[in-house]
Amino acid sequence: MPTYRYPLLYGDTNLQDVFTYLTVSFEALFVLEGIKPGIRISVPEHRLYDVKAFCQAHGLVMDVSEFKVVNSITGDKQFANLGYRIRADSSIKGDVFAYLSLHADWVRAAKEADAGNDHRMFGIELGYPSCCVSFYERHAREEMKKENDYILPLLRNSASFFFENNIIPRYFDIGVLSHFPCSFGCKESRDMARQLLAIVARYSEGLASYVAGILRIPVVMTEHDGAHLLHHSQADGYTMSYGGVQSTVANRLHYDLERQKSIPLNNPNLILFS
Ligand SMILES: [Zn+2]
Repeated sequence: MPTYRYPLLYGDTNLQDVFTYLTVSFEALFVLEGIKPGIRISVPEHRLYDVKAFCQAHGLVMDVSEFKVVNSITGDKQFANLGYRIRADSSIKGDVFAYLSLHADWVRAAKEADAGNDHRMFGIELGYPSCCVSFYERHAREEMKKENDYILPLLRNSASFFFENNIIPRYFDIGVLSHFPCSFGCKESRDMARQLLAIVARYSEGLASYVAGILRIPVVMTEHDGAHLLHHSQADGYTMSYGGVQSTVANRLHYDLERQKSIPLNNPNLILFS
């Protein structure tokens, strides 16, 4: 098993050993803590056994979807935002959705809403702020056709940029929010994110401050040329200098940013969080 700089220990178990991803491990922690009524996570078929065993040992009710999801990875973000649903008994390999909760009723309702593609019902089951559920619904059709990452409508809708609402590092498996906020300034989402970060801090202060640190990093966000985190940045007058670039894709823009080591603060693709 890999070693982790910041293991997320629940009892004797590092949740990352069971749930593979940090963001999914957080979700599992939030449902165990009762802060989220339930969660839907994507589990590769070969990991199902371990996830099931963990749930049984910790009083979580779990059910899996009647369909599998085969993910399509977008060119510039190397990230599966778009999935195709196929029958669960298909021999094509995919991920299943697992619904986890402390309550069997929740699992049943969530699975039903999801099977019926009822975004609103499903978002509400998951405890997402209603402003964000409406936002998601409003843009679902247009974004399905594209890369399904909602970042552009989210940017258009934003006047302030709270770091707690920064969902861009999810491309790198870092973050506590699992929904698209209706704007980076959404107060309901920020309250939720703060609460979630506080829970993580109770288990590992190091991990919580590491995550918060990443969420504060300025980002160059484009529609088709990837997302780029500018590490060790410092603003100075009209420009910002930085030490390194972490990108979703090694493209021209990535190398340009690496070489330049600075960017005008008024670059329209630059997002600064506070
Ligand atoms: Zn909102």
